[in-house]
Amino acid sequence: MRHLLFAFVLPLCMPSVAAAGPWQKLELVVHVHTKISTGSLSPEEVMDQAKAAGLDGVVFTDSLLRHWEYGLWPLRGLIRKSIDQPSVLQKGAGEYLKAIESQNSGNNPLAIAAVEAAPFYYWRRSPFDKQGGEIRGWNQHLLVLGLDRPELLVQLPSNAWDPYQGDLKEKPYQSFIDAAVAEGGLVFWAHPFLKHEGKHGNISDFTEAYPHLLETTTGYHGFAITYLGYLSAVAPASLWDQLLLAYTHGKRKKPVWVLGESDWRGPQERPINMAVSDVLCSARTPAAVLKAIREGRLWAVIRANASMASLEEFSVTDEASTHSAVSGDHMSVQGALSIRVIGKRGPKPQGKVKLTLVKDGEILFEDDATEEAFIHQWPDHKPTGISYYRLIIEDPAGVIYTNPIFVRPYQG
Ligand SMILES: [Zn+2]
Repeated sequence: MRHLLFAFVLPLCMPSVAAAGPWQKLELVVHVHTKISTGSLSPEEVMDQAKAAGLDGVVFTDSLLRHWEYGLWPLRGLIRKSIDQPSVLQKGAGEYLKAIESQNSGNNPLAIAAVEAAPFYYWRRSPFDKQGGEIRGWNQHLLVLGLDRPELLVQLPSNAWDPYQGDLKEKPYQSFIDAAVAEGGLVFWAHPFLKHEGKHGNISDFTEAYPHLLETTTGYHGFAITYLGYLSAVAPASLWDQLLLAYTHGKRKKPVWVLGESDWRGPQERPINMAVSDVLCSARTPAAVLKAIREGRLWAVIRANASMASLEEFSVTDEASTHSAVSGDHMSVQGALSIRVIGKRGPKPQGKVKLTLVKDGEILFEDDATEEAFIHQWPDHKPTGISYYRLIIEDPAGVIYTNPIFVRPYQG
């Protein structure tokens, strides 16, 4: 359909708070464990915490399966040692889904059932060794959202690979991603920049950070970010931009989105709302939230404390058609562009708020926002090919990363 050119008839001064699109911003905490796996609270108690923190929803991600075993060669089936810890499959996938979905009532925050999976581990040292056993890779995790029938969770290929042959690299993960995506699941790498060391009885559990798996696997929807200090992969021109450029250059089929994750196990660790996702939804329902996450319509918000700036709008407008796009959108444009940011400084700002606009991996504009409520508008040329814009907001109290907005020239 050919777009009409409305630019002549609109007043030059557009209302400054007009939202780009019919979206409502819902703040969700994603990646939360309950007592069903490694958390300390029941689903009800998590909901109470979420409500008190003013969150709009919780994406529960209890561990799908926490099971290791070692069979002594050549009688692997007979002489073995195994560890089984509480998990979704141990409780029963149907019971788990019911326990979470029954939290949706009245004006409670939304409760969305998802899982965190550890598709693979391998033995580096036998638990029969006198130094004790060692497993590797068990903390290379994937979050799987949107599989809402028990049989879909049961069928996911967890522990489906031989743990005695060393590191199988991306292979087990790629097959897990493919299986989850084929069933309509949304798959995000969890905490890829953290390394993990744990101990279970006489078995050590060690996992290096795994940003390389973001490059060597495909078909997943994105990766989650959390905590200040682990964010260099989403700085301008870093790993995330390489992945996005691979998409705009046609080397990846899907864009790679970021998701703010909390990886929360209870209030003994930190408040529930320190790392969240602000999701732009068409309605206040679990289905609308999942659709928005699938389409990348969200911003990751990582807080150091509660007084950080907030983002109300990040949009790109085609001045010729007056159409606007938000994070996750792909827009065909006819004219020059205007990129707009609307936000608010926190209640007790402790320093300046810095805005960085990244285009195709490079910094296009940097500005300080000084007013309490700020609007920044930057111009850019009509694109010649596919390009993307993303925004970073930094203040001493935290940082916000938006997902990219893609633009390409309109071919009428
Ligand atoms: Zn994890």
